Amino acid sequence: DHMDFDTETESVCPFCGVGCKVSLKVKDGKVKYVEGINGPANEGRLCVKGRFGFDYIHHPHRLTKPLIRRDDAPAKGLNVDPGNLMTHFREASWDEALEVAAKGLVRLREADPKSVAGFGSAKCTNEEAYLFQKFIRQGFKHNNVDHCTRLCHASSVAALMENVGSGAVTATFNEIVNADVAIIIGANPIENHPVAATYFKQFTKRGGKLIVMDPRGVGMRRYADEMLQFRPGADVSMLNAIMNVIVEEELYDSQYIHRWTENWEAEKEHLRAFTPEAMSEICGIEPDQLRRVARLFAGAKAGMIFWGMGISQHIHGTDNSRCLISLALMTGNVGKPGAGLHPLRGQNNVQGASDAGLIPMFLPDYQSVMDDGIRKRFTDVWGGGDFSNEKGLTVTEIVDEVYAGRIKGMYIQGENPAMSDPDVDHARAAFAKLELMVVQDIFLTETANFADVILPATTLYEKNGTVSNTNRQVQRVRPAVAPPGDAREDWRITVDLAQRIGLPWHYGDVSEVFAEMKLNMSSLDNITWERLETETITYPSLHETDPGQAIVFGDGFPRPEGRAKFTPASVIPPDEAPDADYPMIMTTGRQLEHWHTGSMTRRSLVLDTVEPEANCSLHPRTLRALGVEPGEMVCLSTRRGSIEIMARADRAIAEDMVFVPFAYVEAAANILTNPAIDPYGKIPEFKFSAVRVEKA
Ligand code: SF4
Repeated sequence: DHMDFDTETESVCPFCGVGCKVSLKVKDGKVKYVEGINGPANEGRLCVKGRFGFDYIHHPHRLTKPLIRRDDAPAKGLNVDPGNLMTHFREASWDEALEVAAKGLVRLREADPKSVAGFGSAKCTNEEAYLFQKFIRQGFKHNNVDHCTRLCHASSVAALMENVGSGAVTATFNEIVNADVAIIIGANPIENHPVAATYFKQFTKRGGKLIVMDPRGVGMRRYADEMLQFRPGADVSMLNAIMNVIVEEELYDSQYIHRWTENWEAEKEHLRAFTPEAMSEICGIEPDQLRRVARLFAGAKAGMIFWGMGISQHIHGTDNSRCLISLALMTGNVGKPGAGLHPLRGQNNVQGASDAGLIPMFLPDYQSVMDDGIRKRFTDVWGGGDFSNEKGLTVTEIVDEVYAGRIKGMYIQGENPAMSDPDVDHARAAFAKLELMVVQDIFLTETANFADVILPATTLYEKNGTVSNTNRQVQRVRPAVAPPGDAREDWRITVDLAQRIGLPWHYGDVSEVFAEMKLNMSSLDNITWERLETETITYPSLHETDPGQAIVFGDGFPRPEGRAKFTPASVIPPDEAPDADYPMIMTTGRQLEHWHTGSMTRRSLVLDTVEPEANCSLHPRTLRALGVEPGEMVCLSTRRGSIEIMARADRAIAEDMVFVPFAYVEAAANILTNPAIDPYGKIPEFKFSAVRVEKA
């Protein structure tokens, strides 16, 4: 029986990079029910977040009026009660709030344009991400603008750009249907990309061979033909050993290597030293299994490699991805059906926000800020001026500059660095020092606690625009309901602020922003607003009726001579070795019910009811040794700080490890994490901190 609805609107799930298409059923101005519909990535499926995690949009904590910090507010800190904002802030009109924000930004710009930086959002649309980077580049003449890709796949993108010439996936995850072997490494898709995981499970049921590699015994192990539970941080030693076998047993694809790659001889020589026997000591995987896995993957007719934050969030994250790229190249597994490299993107629009130029070294479509001709093509479209040819600062570098007092003003749209940054007490102390912090968001996030001006924005279900998922699929989002109170679409707020700092911006409709993006983004060739009304289009789309290319690089790579490159990687230990004071290893991540910093899912009744309490996972033997029963509290300490958190027993966790989800403000995992970064991707080592675990 059908419930009775006023309207049904097609949009895209706001959580993960799978990009499931949804139909939103609305009654009396509220979303009542969400149904999966037939998008190319989900074919009607949804996970628990997409199906039940929508009521946050109607939560009483939604920001409905612009807010300005009171003159007599208490000192800045994580001390604002979201139900009682008024001791810290006062309500303001849009006109007043925008004027205070714009005047403050202009005052800082006059003293030093570099005293202002911006964080945009992978939760906003492509058009909003594009406008945000333009706001900083055109408004402040530099590139100090970034977003959470820095904490996510920046190292994967660095390696992909370097070695295949493009940062996006070479094949959609749905291509696994044509594969006979697949590797999933450093990813937990059953919890983090649940609908993609359904395709992976089907693959194994049809007889596909699955190799899972992870220091945690993630859920996909139950479907795996080979499970390699290697030592944390030992990725390169394990992958090099597998490639050593492929070299020694001459299992590589000479024809492919000869035709489409460069630097093979150097890679081959480099790999000679990484024998399974030698590497087994480091990674903890038996030489026999390393050999079996090498033969299995090299013997595939078509093999795919999927990876997640377990690969990227290390000081050697770029090296980890280099190894995966080399493995795919030497076995000829790029550019044909059922083969490819697929870093599973986290946020719903982290692919699109990166494509739109929300990164400090690249303009839209990964065009270098250092190239004069490229910058001119953009400023011609933007109406003149020029901006710095220096790569800008990244997320964690900006926070360090804030702490040092050199960056004095920030515009933050929909990011929550006061929860998501490593060593988050440092980030919080930095934000407390800002002279002007303008935060645009849907809730009073931990970050907004430190704001001087808060601009109430909209959820994805209240806005119009496009988003791009992990598969390079561009899809329309549409407003199903009106935003609450005076809240406004993010792109409109940025346009208003831009005009008030003197930029010549005029956009009547978000489609005009999309049209401007197309002028300098060849990835959007043949993708029109009109087509997106009814279609999902995978870029690149080769002609006006092409739904897009699920697989790329069958006819060469966007690199010199069309060749991909092997970049050898050496074994670098994690930044922080366990010692007598901090003898165990902490790793962080997500769990099925909660999304990232929790601002949305902890305000979704079903999800927060299922998973209401901060928790960590330890091996039952470890718990016994500590004298802790499952459900009791433990204290976790690192060199950065301590938290108290409820302990769960999980046999899949190694005995010297603890896994901590980072969604819980009351026991924030990032108080503990190590801010050491990868030198190329500038991504922090969230996956490895030396920790002490005690009974609380
Ligand atoms: Fe949303 Fe991702 Fe779940 Fe799909 S798999 S419903 S996009 S959270």
